[in-house]
Amino acid sequence: MKYNAIIIGGGAAGLSAALYLARAGLAPLIFAGSPPGGQLMLTSEVENFPGRESILGGELIDVMRKQAQKFGGIIVDENVKSVGLVGAGRDLPVQHTIESASGKIYQTKALIIATGAKALWMGLDSETRLRGKGVSACATCDAFFFKNKIVAVIGGGDSALEEALTLTKFASKVYIVHRRAEFKASKIMQKRVFEHEKIEIIWNSAIEEIIGEKKVEGMRIKAVGVGRDRPVQEIKLNGVFVAIGHRPDTDLFKGQIELDQKGYVLTTTMYALEKLKAEGLKLKDMKFDVGYQTMTSVGGVFGAGDCVDHVYKQASTAAGMGVQAALDAERYLEKI
Ligand code: NDP
Repeated sequence: MKYNAIIIGGGAAGLSAALYLARAGLAPLIFAGSPPGGQLMLTSEVENFPGRESILGGELIDVMRKQAQKFGGIIVDENVKSVGLVGAGRDLPVQHTIESASGKIYQTKALIIATGAKALWMGLDSETRLRGKGVSACATCDAFFFKNKIVAVIGGGDSALEEALTLTKFASKVYIVHRRAEFKASKIMQKRVFEHEKIEIIWNSAIEEIIGEKKVEGMRIKAVGVGRDRPVQEIKLNGVFVAIGHRPDTDLFKGQIELDQKGYVLTTTMYALEKLKAEGLKLKDMKFDVGYQTMTSVGGVFGAGDCVDHVYKQASTAAGMGVQAALDAERYLEKI
């Protein structure tokens, strides 16, 4: 089966791209995955998606799906097993191949990768059971629900410290539980955290269990590393924010498009930013096409959402990038 455009990913980025490509009359095929919907399906209330005062994550995805379908988007709730991306001249027509989990083969001239990222979790049963009931992986999304409450953040990188600082705007006290005795985060973030009166750091510790049946009521922490013989400690609190990193869902594309060290998809914009950071941008070095900001290292293959962006990671920014990728794909299809 041949398509003008295929999108892999049925979260905020993929469905926004689908809406634009559908409205452009390109009848895109969307592999929404199984189960479909991305990280929004794991959140409860979403109050920071512009245009909606409050909406359940699942409901937001449902509306986005209907909106894409209304204009001719074709959604398949199936995973993709493999892809065959053809590197050709940037404005030459090529057919990329997609094999679905059920073994069907699809071909497309333009492909948008919007496979998202998954928050990493500690792997405790109590963490899984209480997810959405006081356990979260996104302070920007959920801090508001912890006004005058006590919370803990797990992790020692920039995400954890940023989450902790966000939480201080609402919570009465924020613990940071870190498995070592120093943070990995940038010095400026560390300084802000050390100076904040609401934050208490518990070094060399890991959560053994999050306590609570229907909602979070406390945490039991054990000593790890230095001073391992300290006794297990129980602390009463209302929320636990896990910020131990994310992992982009990009294994499918390894060896076929350029990914960064952590596996995030490099688009023209992200490649330029990496270069800028590393050595100062030299345009002559760029094999990415500056004419399409969301194009990857393979012509006709675009990237959008959390599989590209490891900084903003919001449903609304993913949706925006999905729109950019759709507009780039549309322009590309007109040109070839
Ligand atoms: P990182 O990988 O940088 O940090 C993860 C942290 O979680 C580490 O401190 C790690 O401990 C800890 N950790 C990992 N696994 C476990 C576990 N199983 N149990 C307990 N703790 C664990 O991820 P981040 O999400 O913080 O950052 C990712 C990237 O994004 C970084 O490059 C970061 O700089 C960047 N970023 C930048 C921001 C900004 O500039 N504003 C904001 C957020 C992220 P250990 O230290 O022992 O390895």
